[in-house]
Amino acid sequence: MSVLEQIKELIMNATKILIVTHENPDGDAIGSSLGFMNGLIKLGKDVDVAIPQINEMYSFLPGFELLKKEINADEYDLCIALDSSDLERLGELKPAFEKIEKTIVIDHHITNQNFGDVSYVNAVASSTCQNIIVILAALDVAINKDIATCIYTGILTDTGGFRYNVQSETFEFAGMLLEAGIDIAKIYRILFDTTTEARTRLLGRALNTLEILADGKIAFTYVTAKDFEELGNQDGDQEGIVNYGRDIEGVEVSIFVREKDGMRKVSLRSNEYLNVSLIASKYSGGGHVKAAGFETSKSIEEIKEELVVEIKRQLQ
Ligand code: 5GP
Ligand code: MN
Repeated sequence: MSVLEQIKELIMNATKILIVTHENPDGDAIGSSLGFMNGLIKLGKDVDVAIPQINEMYSFLPGFELLKKEINADEYDLCIALDSSDLERLGELKPAFEKIEKTIVIDHHITNQNFGDVSYVNAVASSTCQNIIVILAALDVAINKDIATCIYTGILTDTGGFRYNVQSETFEFAGMLLEAGIDIAKIYRILFDTTTEARTRLLGRALNTLEILADGKIAFTYVTAKDFEELGNQDGDQEGIVNYGRDIEGVEVSIFVREKDGMRKVSLRSNEYLNVSLIASKYSGGGHVKAAGFETSKSIEEIKEELVVEIKRQLQ
């Protein structure tokens, strides 16, 4: 049986399905979870999505109000992990994934560890949402406007607004989503052209920490847990700050650190030639060639020093 057939069989035989995604969920994580949920509901399945912390900016997505912050793993017989390259990425939902009898993994990270009973990983795809389109087709679910709005969100955010990781297929799929009736201008405006005071002030704090290192090749910025607390930020408000360092002329790698729950979450972005997923992997993280991340208990200063040495070595 092909992987798609195995996925279909597991879904058809499931009584109650739980969809989970990675910690600090981004547009692709949330869009693929809600898009798949809406698709499975159309198929008549009983399905929940668990996302413990979510940014309000995604509240325009159909099904947002159905999201569960807490679940009881005993209720489910199939767990589907989306946009997550390994078990650790599931954060507080890792125990649920481990407990639920059958599991499926759907992802587009080259570093994916195929940790499901069945794993569908297409690392060429722009986004997990793009893979969801293929899976819904295999399940004979037609994509309606609600599903399309969620899926388009993930494609748009993971490609930086169709800037990178785009295949000709991505545009073909986008055309199909447009046919389903989505409001392209509205989705773009909410995701890229709308912010909040707290977000803008957080960006200000981050930019105040900017350091340019390694003869202009590295940009380094950070925000602390205190910043989040003082400004009243929501999880996800840090999304995109790393790009400001990357956009500086001459910079090859941007490092952005966010302090959370006593840990440091590091985002790496490269412009042209450095494979940041290799660097993230050294810290048990992962991601893509030009966008990767990891979590560490090291201090902001330690992270900076270590990464500068490592990146300088690779830039030689
Ligand atoms: P971001 O910097 O936006 O959090 O993540 C960039 C990319 O790296 C995403 O594709 C994300 O899934 C991946 N990534 C970020 N943090 C981690 C991590 O701690 N572990 C793994 N495996 N991947 C990560
Ligand atoms: Mn993704």
